[in-house]
Amino acid sequence: MQNFHLTLADISPTSASQMFISTDGVFNSRARVLGGGSSINAGFYTRASASYIKKVGWNDELVNESYPWIEKQIVHKPDFGPWQRAIRDSLLEIGVSPFNGFTYDHLYGTKVGGTIFDRSGRRHTAAELLATANPQKLHVLVHATVQKIEFDTSGKIPRAVGVMFKDENGNTHKATLSKIPESEIIVSSGAIGSPQLLLLSGIGPKKDLQKMNISVVVDNKYVGKGMSDNPLNTIFVPISNRTVKQSLIQTVGITKQGVYIEASCGYGQSTDSIHCDHGIASAEIGQLSTIPPKQRTLEAIHEYRRTKRNLPHEAFKGGFILEKIAKPLSKGEITLANTNIDDNPSITFNYFSHPADVAKCVKGIRMVEKLVRSKHFAEYTQYDQGMVEKLLNMSVKANVNLIPRHTNDTESLEQFCKDTVITIWHYHGGCHVGKVVSRDYRVIGVEGLRVVDGSTFNVSPGTNPQATVMMLGRYMGVKILRERLGKGAGV
Ligand SMILES: Cc1cc2nc3c(=O)[nH]c(=O)nc-3n(C[C@H](O)[C@H](O)[C@H](O)COP(=O)(O)OP(=O)(O)OC[C@H]3O[C@@H](n4cnc5c(N)ncnc54)[C@H](O)[C@@H]3O)c2cc1C
Repeated sequence: MQNFHLTLADISPTSASQMFISTDGVFNSRARVLGGGSSINAGFYTRASASYIKKVGWNDELVNESYPWIEKQIVHKPDFGPWQRAIRDSLLEIGVSPFNGFTYDHLYGTKVGGTIFDRSGRRHTAAELLATANPQKLHVLVHATVQKIEFDTSGKIPRAVGVMFKDENGNTHKATLSKIPESEIIVSSGAIGSPQLLLLSGIGPKKDLQKMNISVVVDNKYVGKGMSDNPLNTIFVPISNRTVKQSLIQTVGITKQGVYIEASCGYGQSTDSIHCDHGIASAEIGQLSTIPPKQRTLEAIHEYRRTKRNLPHEAFKGGFILEKIAKPLSKGEITLANTNIDDNPSITFNYFSHPADVAKCVKGIRMVEKLVRSKHFAEYTQYDQGMVEKLLNMSVKANVNLIPRHTNDTESLEQFCKDTVITIWHYHGGCHVGKVVSRDYRVIGVEGLRVVDGSTFNVSPGTNPQATVMMLGRYMGVKILRERLGKGAGV
């Protein structure tokens, strides 16, 4: 858990994470490893709300069987420290109530959620769920990158028949479906990977495909469209007078104002300031929130790394209050930059292009200010004004944002939101239900192909999505098996 940011900062070709910078200028990461995001993420585990499940149209009973299937295997109760406790009590004091205790459920108020890190800080990932499979019927290829899906176009409707993939030595192979009519390909390459793979396989807007000399299998203008990333803004609270234990996300406030308040706490174990970090908000991973997005560059990260050793330890001691916008209305898109699947496509999220998102952020920052000024919070920090003044003067160098000075000025808060936007990596969309896939996740216009992952979401579920992405995997797996059994086919 302590090394969370190190994986994301590793930009070597063998890293488990692949950095991308959206055209907005925000640095981001995507998983490139078995287990997907669950192998590199911050671990917080929390379900979607009952109303979300109803709206999407999932079967309640199967949903309620599928979440616990995950939880029993890889989810833990967090080791709850003073920082997270202070945030919990302060959220309640400012009215983000009731307190719902430790729960996976999505309920208005304040709660403590689950985590895929165990008490010794060891990560448990979606890859572990494979342990329940029948090893006689499963082949896992960990270094296989699918280049494209292949179709038989001789019939009325194109039918997926296999995939072409490359191994770690760059050799090309084919995996072909058996002739059993129920055989199909299920793509789970995530919100960036799945639309990219469909586009490279000839499913997407005809004009864009032709520009890349890709033969059109299905002309669908919606592939890669409607992408969103929930904007995140953070406030750093220096804690100058006590030991701060590192934690990722544990406490959340689910507000009625359309924002989620979460908290993380940064400070490495090392006494060497080079190794101190801010965890989720580490500048090393491009969360350069004190520089407006368009000015964030790899050089800016290098510059930060160079000057980091000169920063006092106090700059790293403290916690972050995270403010995430639920259901952003700002939308973007993915388009191919080239035909190499290993390269990132061109990704745009258009953060804060919709005024409603800006208005939510302003409300959220005002709530954070209230929280920081609450009695419980003051009791916890025992605020040392001298140290705060010192930090205020160096917050830009330390790449942390303290509470904006003029929170009553809406215009400058709006600018603060736009200038300090970073990501919480909850990007979704690109293969929306009803547009790219049907309600049973079959790709529209072809046979034998489904997409089951976060690319199908219109709205990111819960305060954080991984529980529901994993649940959906189990849910659809059971559903498909039941359908096949219903038809009398072998499984
Ligand atoms: C740094 C980070 C922190 C996060 N923190 C949290 C958190 O604390 N809590 C939470 O709930 N959510 C968190 N998330 C979000 C969550 O992890 C993702 O929403 C979730 O993993 C998305 O699942 P997915 O299956 O849609 O895609 P992914 O998890 O991205 O999985 C896609 C998989 O497909 C593989 N792939 C892609 N293309 C190909 C190809 N062509 N051939 C073969 N394989 C391919 C990739 O290697 C990857 O394994 C975080 C995400 C990140 C990146």
